[in-house]
Amino acid sequence: MSSDRVALDWCDLAVAGVRELKPYVPGKPSRELQRELGITDVIKLASNENPLGVSPLAKAALLGGVDDLALYPDGSGHDLRQALAKHHDIDPACITLGNGSNDLLVFLAQAFLNSQVRASYSQYAFAIYEIVVQMTGAQADVAPGHAEGHPMALGHDLRALYQSIGPDTRMVFIANPNNPTGTWVDGQRLEDFVASLPPHVICVVDEAYFEYAGDRGLGDARQWLDRHRHLVVLRTFSKAYGLAGLRIGYALSDPGIADLLNRVRPAFNVNSLGLLAAEAALKDDAFIAESVALNEAGLTQVSEGLQSLGVRVTPSAGNFVLARLDQPADQAHQQLMQHGVIVRPMAGYGLPDALRISIGTAAENERMLVTLAKVLGH
Ligand SMILES: *Cc1c(COP(=O)(O)O)cnc(C)c1O
Repeated sequence: MSSDRVALDWCDLAVAGVRELKPYVPGKPSRELQRELGITDVIKLASNENPLGVSPLAKAALLGGVDDLALYPDGSGHDLRQALAKHHDIDPACITLGNGSNDLLVFLAQAFLNSQVRASYSQYAFAIYEIVVQMTGAQADVAPGHAEGHPMALGHDLRALYQSIGPDTRMVFIANPNNPTGTWVDGQRLEDFVASLPPHVICVVDEAYFEYAGDRGLGDARQWLDRHRHLVVLRTFSKAYGLAGLRIGYALSDPGIADLLNRVRPAFNVNSLGLLAAEAALKDDAFIAESVALNEAGLTQVSEGLQSLGVRVTPSAGNFVLARLDQPADQAHQQLMQHGVIVRPMAGYGLPDALRISIGTAAENERMLVTLAKVLGH
């Protein structure tokens, strides 16, 4: 073997789609800021986590699972899939479990996209769509969002999204409501959109914030599955169910699609504590009701508070708001952090004047508003 080694640029060896990828930038963890600033009193309103924490039923189930951690989890997730099948009145063969719904976005891309096909999503859509499409080498068609001034400014424009679809389009992604804008599309209009797609265009409707959306008219895409075989519905335990740290999400789809997703799904992708906690959390209607009520009150508190500071707020059906400062938001973001308040800057989404702020407890919301008032010089 030769000992003269040429320095390799590993990028030259990487597959084309990966070469151009930029890693996803998550919200800053509270502990990281605590370490950096030497302060203990940090609040994180940056990742749309449930401020009430973990459901008591899930917590109890978790304790019962600790003794089995030496064993591999049930790779088929049988018990959770049965519970979900009952919850959604659907055949378990229609359910695919993921390590968060992020996992399912990856499986969908792996199973259906390659460099010969295209995928569509809206400008300001959830950032993971871009990553999973790029990863496969597929071309992305990004439809413009609604214009400023529209009631759902920056949100998904179904007409523009429809126009982005061509003969090579294999997949379209829609988050309802969308993250980071919080905006939503009417359920009937969305089902009409799904119906209008050619059957070879798989339509992924991502309902990560389903429980929070309430009666705003988004509908329930699960109810449309029997009529549209090319529809895939994503749900997660990371948001209202308060289990973001355990990474459990799932897809509901035609069994033929689920079969393909399960072929690319790694063995044991979902861990045993996550399976147990999700099954228990699914039964905790009281916790969901409490979480949703807290969020509704918080949405009002935060939206009104921001507006009184002269900050524009996009309507939201999720547990967060997009705050438009109408000036570069980077300084406000940094200064909020200096005061121990973590929110999410949006420059990476092409919105340098915006912050995405998750809804916390009433006290956290108040602290964020008081701190922002100070930062903005009110
Ligand atoms: C948070 C979020 C998800 C869920 O991610 P997990 O991997 O399930 O934690 C999916 N889609 C959107 C739009 C989200 O905001």
